[in-house]
Amino acid sequence: MPSFVISEKCDGCKGGEKTACMYICPNDLMVLEPNEMKAYNQEPDQCWECFSCVKICPTQAIEVRGYADFVPLGSSIMPMMGTEDIMWTCKFRNGLVKRFKFPIRTTPEGGANAYPDLKGQDLDSALLSTEEADGYELPKPIETV
Ligand code: SF4
Ligand code: SF4
Repeated sequence: MPSFVISEKCDGCKGGEKTACMYICPNDLMVLEPNEMKAYNQEPDQCWECFSCVKICPTQAIEVRGYADFVPLGSSIMPMMGTEDIMWTCKFRNGLVKRFKFPIRTTPEGGANAYPDLKGQDLDSALLSTEEADGYELPKPIETV
């Protein structure tokens, strides 16, 4: 099931220029209705249920049905982000509630750089990023007659 906004809980991110769910959706699906200041998924068919908007929403206004291999059918799942961990609350269809807490990355937003050694490298070079430039010779093209 694609993301669904519970309008009573959505506060439009308090009128920010771009709401949290609009910012995070990798598919640009979330939009804000400017009169009501409520967000909604403009194209549910295109939602791949990545849970990004669910996790970032500060008011827990977005729901996505959990995958069956993740939570049993008929249950609901809601995450709550903390500064160092994320707590998932699972409500099972028999009323049982379980909570699971996991650590999250603490790298500041925009601070992750998976390839710090690539800075200053010649991106036009024919070498792969991991190849040594010194003493490395490119294979010679095969001559055809
Ligand atoms: S992130 Fe949550 S509160 Fe903010 S606009 Fe989206 S649904 Fe509404
Ligand atoms: S679940 Fe993922 S793809 Fe779907 S609306 Fe939310 S952020 Fe976008």
